[in-house]
Amino acid sequence: MLDVKKIRLILELRESGIADSNILSAIEKIPREKFIPYNFRNQAYDNIALPIGDNQTISQPFVVAKMTQLLEVQPKFKILEIGTGSGYQSAVLSKLVRRVYTIERIKSLLIKAEKVFEELKISNIVSKYADGNLGWKEQIPFDRIIITAATPFISKEIESQINEGGIIVAPMIMKNKQVIVKYKKIGNKLESQIYDDVLFVPNLSGTE
Ligand code: SAH
Repeated sequence: MLDVKKIRLILELRESGIADSNILSAIEKIPREKFIPYNFRNQAYDNIALPIGDNQTISQPFVVAKMTQLLEVQPKFKILEIGTGSGYQSAVLSKLVRRVYTIERIKSLLIKAEKVFEELKISNIVSKYADGNLGWKEQIPFDRIIITAATPFISKEIESQINEGGIIVAPMIMKNKQVIVKYKKIGNKLESQIYDDVLFVPNLSGTE
């Protein structure tokens, strides 16, 4: 049953403009049900966000696919994610790039995500418990950075940890709504382009 729903989801994503077959195949490979609490597993391949505990959510598959597509990844890339949450976005990226570094500020969520990575034998994700807005300076520079919590502005640390020519994709809070923004670092400045409206949980500082 989940398989039929998965195929339907992949077709739906393709129809909504996700043209990159590597991304569609990464989504097909990662079992989203593993990242979701038991009572919601029958909805794993519905194109919706779902609760993962601690008032947080796993993003809608379309949003995961869209943000991944905007990142324009290449296999040799090193990516930083802020907001591990369930670990699903990291797992999708892990099929597309060399290494994913992911940071989560809620300890219990990070522990759950790490268990799933282990169960799925994903070995190219490195995770840590911290405030992601500070970045991960021991691992700089990053080719790409993805923020998966609604953010009022890109921190100086994040801006300084991306390569020249690198891309940052984030849900940005703008005038009472949230939009996906793609930033490109060119000549030490960030050039921005605005995409779809989205709804993410807030980016908070500190840890809990
Ligand atoms: N990428 C996730 C989406 C999770 S929701 C997934 O695929 O499931 C956003 C997550 O960002 C939440 O778990 C929240 O705790 C975390 N978060 C919010 N602000 C953060 C910050 N400053 N640093 C690290 N994690 C943060």
